[in-house]
Amino acid sequence: MAKKQFKSESKRLLDLMIHSIYTHKEIFLREIISNASDAIDKLCYISLTDDKVGLTRDDFKIIITADKEKRTLTISDNGIGMTAEELESNLGVIARSGSLQFKKDMTDTNEDVDIIGQFGVGFYSAFMVADKVTVISKAYGSDTDTANMWVSAGSDGYTITPCQKVSVGTDIIIDMKPDEEEEDYCEFLEEDTLHRIIKKYSDYIRWPIIMDVTKSRQVDGTETDKDGSKKKIWEDYTETEVINSRIPIWQRAKSEVTDEECMQFYKEKFFDMEDPVSVLRISAEGTVTYKAMLFIPAKAPHDYYSREYEAGLQLYTSGVMIMEHCADLLPEHFRFVRGVVDSQDLSLNISRELLQHDRQLKVIASNLEKKIKAELKKLMDNDYDKYVLFFKSFGLQLKYGLVNGYGANRDMLSDLIMFYSSKAEKLIPLADYVKNMQEGQKYIYYACGENAAKLDKLPQAENVREKGYEIFYMTDDIDEFVVRSLMKFEDKEFRSVNDDDLGLESEDEKKETEKLETENKDILDFVKDSLSGKIAAAKLSHKLKSHPVCLTTQGGISLEMERYFAALNTEASENMKAERVLELNVNHPVFAALKDTFTSDKEKAKKYAELLYGQSQLIAGVSLDDPSHFADLISELMV
Ligand code: ADP
Repeated sequence: MAKKQFKSESKRLLDLMIHSIYTHKEIFLREIISNASDAIDKLCYISLTDDKVGLTRDDFKIIITADKEKRTLTISDNGIGMTAEELESNLGVIARSGSLQFKKDMTDTNEDVDIIGQFGVGFYSAFMVADKVTVISKAYGSDTDTANMWVSAGSDGYTITPCQKVSVGTDIIIDMKPDEEEEDYCEFLEEDTLHRIIKKYSDYIRWPIIMDVTKSRQVDGTETDKDGSKKKIWEDYTETEVINSRIPIWQRAKSEVTDEECMQFYKEKFFDMEDPVSVLRISAEGTVTYKAMLFIPAKAPHDYYSREYEAGLQLYTSGVMIMEHCADLLPEHFRFVRGVVDSQDLSLNISRELLQHDRQLKVIASNLEKKIKAELKKLMDNDYDKYVLFFKSFGLQLKYGLVNGYGANRDMLSDLIMFYSSKAEKLIPLADYVKNMQEGQKYIYYACGENAAKLDKLPQAENVREKGYEIFYMTDDIDEFVVRSLMKFEDKEFRSVNDDDLGLESEDEKKETEKLETENKDILDFVKDSLSGKIAAAKLSHKLKSHPVCLTTQGGISLEMERYFAALNTEASENMKAERVLELNVNHPVFAALKDTFTSDKEKAKKYAELLYGQSQLIAGVSLDDPSHFADLISELMV
């Protein structure tokens, strides 16, 4: 019979397992049992609506049998089973969702060792202890005598052949490796060891894990020892026992489960290698009774901001998983949350469409949203570093939430948002900004641009900085939209440093500038005309101090927004243009020079206008329309 080859990435994982020096080889059992449990979940779910399954909830189980003579360990389940095609596609290839990332991480580190413990590696982990693995499976719904056997002795391939199996389900038979100096594989055939491993890793598996256990009992009568003394007679017998306590981790009392156990559970179940920043345990009674265990990850999965990412919580009702990703349980802005919700109040065989309209589900979802919000706020207040870690991964999601809701989520999200502060030189919450506001400071100032270093030098912000006011440096594309959705925070308005009125001038100062503006009208008009349509206006600045010019905008669209829309590259992008304003500093010697030239040499003055506009573009981080023309103008000036 022809041997089939493993797919290349599977082969690498397999090789890693075979040559693993990992000290916790015992986790292979956890992986195999977890697969068995998933397979039973699937068949159990079908049995709710399909009588043909012929099993009720109490019939499902996982049986562990060790045969010391043959050196085999068998794990049997009466779950959904696999067809020959499924054996091929599931066991010949790594099907795991996180496999890409996992592979990458493995190539990045030579220390692959720990990853195995942290991260479920699935079926192949059997090869850490096995010489040969045999899978005999009969799929639900297949003909009475169709079953298949998958056999592999390692990386040289596998075979699949038809065989006999009476009932639906899967047997995994592991032929233990011979004992080595450092590793007694026969350990894994010992009752005590198996008992300990199952308790340690699989205690919360819902389905009974059954094993024959040897016990001793006293029988009637006595026997006489060599020395003549009488002794009671004991005999060994075996009893089939359920090893696991079967209470899912989220159903257990808070006091009974350590944080480490929760984290471990999270990492295995949701294929993350890092501890979450928070674990939320909720036990609600009232309108709807439910338990939930939620996790806030520290890092976004690699596909998080792509369409591939499936948001939602696992939904259980009375211990049966009815949905893997129930998206209706989470609002869009908290879609990074992972976890489990278990409620007996939901009907078992409810369809997905009905579930969406389920009143109970809505109540749960709205409670969860409040709890998640409270947890994040708590984290922000009590553990800044952790919150920053979280915010760097998911802050963008919170910001989208604010913008997409057209302000509807303002109360929910505004106090979870942070921006980079010019003074603190780190991310701070809006509330901290308002707390730090100086006497007489009217607005929350912000500047948008590429990075904090550049924003720190913006000429138009010089006055604000000199007053000792803090400025939020905003560097995400979406930030300006966030500000518009927020409008205010704690009654304080946001104000861009580009704004004409920064609230810094006295009435007299304002009047003075207006007067100068009128006096210089002809030269300002000249500047505008010289730039032939590139700017909407040239005017005297209210805010420049040591710099001669700056570029600002008027109307609803800023330079950052223009850039954002241009990147979207839609038809509408064309119309999303900022109206540029060239602001001139009337007190700067450059202005005096411009004025002189304007009276003496119009041709030259036009070039000055172009030079000034070019400067303002460079400072604003906008690329020049014609860089070589700009360079020529400078050269001309120098000669
Ligand atoms: P994972 O469980 O993470 O998907 P595995 O390598 O452990 O990865 O298993 C691959 C696939 O093989 C599973 O997704 C499942 O479809 C199938 N499988 C494994 N064990 C069983 C089993 N006991 N019964 C039915 N299907 C199984």
